[in-house]
Amino acid sequence: MRDQALIKKFADILGVESVFTQESDLLTYSYDAAGLPGQAPWLALRPQTLEHLGRAVKVCHEEGLPLTVRGAGTNLSGGAIPRPDGVVLLTSALKRIIEINQADMYAVVEPGVVTAQLFAATLAHGLFYPPDPGSQAVSTLGGNVAENSGGLRGLKYGVTRDYVMGLSFFDSEGNLVHTGARTVKCVTGYNLAGLMVGSEGTLGVFGRIILKLIPPPAAAKAMVAVYERMQDASETVAAIIAARILPATLEFMDNFTIRTVEDYSRAGLPREAAALLLIEVDGHPAQVEEEAARVQEICRQHGARVQMAQDAAQRDKIWEARRAAIPALARLKPSIWLEDATVPRSQIPAMIAALTEIAAKCQLTIGTFGHAGDGNLHPTIVYDKRDPDQRQRVAAAVEAIFERALTLGGTLSGEHGLGLTKVRFLADEVGPATIAWSRRLKAALDPKGILNPGKAIGG
Ligand SMILES: Cc1cc2nc3c(=O)[nH]c(=O)nc-3n(C[C@H](O)[C@H](O)[C@H](O)COP(=O)(O)OP(=O)(O)OC[C@H]3O[C@@H](n4cnc5c(N)ncnc54)[C@H](O)[C@@H]3O)c2cc1C
Repeated sequence: MRDQALIKKFADILGVESVFTQESDLLTYSYDAAGLPGQAPWLALRPQTLEHLGRAVKVCHEEGLPLTVRGAGTNLSGGAIPRPDGVVLLTSALKRIIEINQADMYAVVEPGVVTAQLFAATLAHGLFYPPDPGSQAVSTLGGNVAENSGGLRGLKYGVTRDYVMGLSFFDSEGNLVHTGARTVKCVTGYNLAGLMVGSEGTLGVFGRIILKLIPPPAAAKAMVAVYERMQDASETVAAIIAARILPATLEFMDNFTIRTVEDYSRAGLPREAAALLLIEVDGHPAQVEEEAARVQEICRQHGARVQMAQDAAQRDKIWEARRAAIPALARLKPSIWLEDATVPRSQIPAMIAALTEIAAKCQLTIGTFGHAGDGNLHPTIVYDKRDPDQRQRVAAAVEAIFERALTLGGTLSGEHGLGLTKVRFLADEVGPATIAWSRRLKAALDPKGILNPGKAIGG
């Protein structure tokens, strides 16, 4: 009875077409890209306006209903998996770019705007929004802010956090809270955006986002450095940074990933290479020429053969090949487990050596690629999760990866968040006092515990 009355209440507020109760619809929202077992929600709602989004949160609060916001569902740590007794709030109808301000260089967007669409719209206005997660063709800006997503340009341009100027979000009671401004500088009140970015939907529901834009680089040059020894590639990364050059992008692929991507995309990658670095420098044309030459020289000193992209089409091909890594690896076996443990970039050679060791010890195939310049690698285990023995070996490998990353001064997650998959390791990195403090904060802001329960800090 309560269920039917509640469904009617939501339908009266949002319109019956925005309320999903069919099992087939709910199954669609039961999982994300992390590969954990799915869990269908009790109900899914698709608010059409900011006001409706807030009213939906308010009803969830009144009724004590757990709620999980869902952008595109590309989360890689189980953060978008709902509770079976809860509600999924879809942001797919909230996809307006409200403003692109050329004079003051910012954009105001709704949370369901797709990342690549904002990028394209800003370029059309002569501006640039750098954060470019590999999922940018489908991921939403709400999801990017909730995860503090990075991307291929993170090394030089930073991550989502560096572009959030302001936020309007609904608190757990459905009140609209504003933080930040349309100004470059703003120290009014607490820096709530600093808290909300990366909060994985556990502290509030983003309704509007103000994002900083910058001038686009005038020139760019991309290249592929081909290595016969993996160690040489990882040492090149450290050498480029040590030479005080910050490429826009500095990506790594091991041999297994190269062959898998080549089979999938026929991008012309050298199948025999032990490793590749995919590098782009950008900026003023003169500086680009100089830095490209310098980077090329450093790669060669470390034994690489360097192929320069000759035009925009060749450059695009390089980045398409890199973005194909996850879908290509995902085709090989029924399951993949993709990690994003991150180390200080000087420790990249040690981390790559550790991954080779862990793969051999656990008798698993691990394809490694990722944002080497950020110290953020994505060791990806291909396996069959239906086999208990393989599952056990994957769990042992993941534990070993985290243990090694932390020993090297790194962190559990560079960009995918802790979600459900990594929460149990949190104490190893931050200790019990930090967890207790975080849970006290969460309890104060969300006393009923309805906002994406169990994610990011567990509890
Ligand atoms: C092929 C592939 C490549 C990827 N590459 C990268 C990469 O390079 N860098 C990177 O950082 N990540 C990457 N990811 C991970 C993922 O795409 C990002 O975490 C992305 O930001 C998630 O966006 P989404 O719209 O899919 O969010 P979802 O998966 O729907 O949600 C992610 C989290 O954000 C919360 N959330 C979503 N919208 C809101 C909102 N409006 N208010 C409050 N909380 C909200 C959700 O509850 C959930 O906890 C990749 C994923 C895939 C599948």
